[in-house]
Amino acid sequence: MSSRFAVFVGILMLTSLRLATIAALRKFGAFSLVANSNWRQQRLLILCYHGTSLEDEHLWRPLLYITPQKLEQRLEYLKNEQYSVLPLADGLQRLHSGTLPPRSVVLTFDDGTYDFFRQAYPLLKRFGFPVTVYQTTYYTSVEQPIFNLICSYMLWKLRGEVISGGKDLGISDLLDLRTDSSRVAIVRALVELSERENRTGPQKGEIAAQLARVLRIDYDQLRAKRIVQLMNARELQEIANNGVDVQLHTHRHRTPEDEALFRKEIQDNRAAIQKVTGTQPVHFCYPSGVHQPAFLAWLRKELVLSATTCDAGLATRRTESLLLPRFIDHQNRTQLEFESWVTGVGSLVAVRRKAAQRR
Ligand SMILES: [Zn+2]
Repeated sequence: MSSRFAVFVGILMLTSLRLATIAALRKFGAFSLVANSNWRQQRLLILCYHGTSLEDEHLWRPLLYITPQKLEQRLEYLKNEQYSVLPLADGLQRLHSGTLPPRSVVLTFDDGTYDFFRQAYPLLKRFGFPVTVYQTTYYTSVEQPIFNLICSYMLWKLRGEVISGGKDLGISDLLDLRTDSSRVAIVRALVELSERENRTGPQKGEIAAQLARVLRIDYDQLRAKRIVQLMNARELQEIANNGVDVQLHTHRHRTPEDEALFRKEIQDNRAAIQKVTGTQPVHFCYPSGVHQPAFLAWLRKELVLSATTCDAGLATRRTESLLLPRFIDHQNRTQLEFESWVTGVGSLVAVRRKAAQRR
C-alpha cells in the first residue's frame, strides 16, 4: 500500500468512526440527555443558513445552499423536539441574564438572497419561527445577479467542456471548464479585470451577459429566475413588515482592513437597511466569516451590539458578544450531524471544528 493511500484510508476510518460514534451516542440516548441538560440550557446555538436552492444551486455550491425540502425537515425537527427558537436579540439578552429556556436556538440567514423571500421565509412563517437576515445591500438596488457568483454558476453549468471565446471578454481565449480550479481561475480573471477597469454594477452585468452568450446560456431567462440575486427593496420591506429581523452584513460583502473603509461599509449598509425597513440595525455578521482583532473596536464605535462568525460552537455567557460562534447548516450536512449540534453533542465530540466550517 502506498503511503498516500494509507493516509487516505486512515482519514476515511477516522471519519466513519466519528460518525459511527455519534450515531451510537444517539442510539443510547445521549442526545436527549445532553439536550435536556443544565449545560445545554446555559448555551445558545445560533444556526446559520445561506441560500435555499431555487433549482440546482445546492449541486453547484453545497456548502452555501440547502434544498427547501431539507430546510423544512430541519424546522420540523426543531418543532417536534420542542426547541425554543428565539429572536436573536432576545436570545442574546437571555443568554447574558441566565434566563434561557431549554434547548435554545436562533435562526440566521446570511446575505438576504431572493430565494429566502421565495422559499425560506414562507416556511419559517408557517412554523411561526423568528428569524434574522444578515443583509448585504449593494445588489439590493442594482437588481441583477451577483457578478462573481453568476459567472461561477454559468461556468459550472457547462462543466466538462472546453470553449473558446474568452477573448471577447478580455481574458485568455480558451475557457477550460473541466475542473473546479480552472473555473475558479476564469472567474478570478473576470473579477480582476472588472476591478482594474473600475466597472460599475450594471457594466459587470453586461460582462455576465456576454459570458452567457459565449456559453450559449439564455441570460434573460436566468436573470428572470433570480438565481444568485438579492432581495430587492420591495421584498425586503415586505419581510421586515412581517417581523423578519434585518441586520448588518456590510454594504459590499467585504471587510476592509482600513478603519474608515470598514466603518463606511457598516454605515452604508445600515443606511440602506434603514431606508427600506425603517429600523436601526445593530447586530452584525462577518462576511465570509472573516474577522480580525482590530474589527471589534471598529464595530463598537459603530454601536454594534453583537457579531456572529462562521466558527463552530455554542455561545455561553462568557463568549465575546462580537465573536459569537454559529453552526453552519447546508446541503452536505446529514440529519444526524444537525441533530448532534442542536442537542449540543456535536460541540462536545467534534474534532477539527474550525476546519470543518472553512469556506
Ligand atoms: Zn455573506
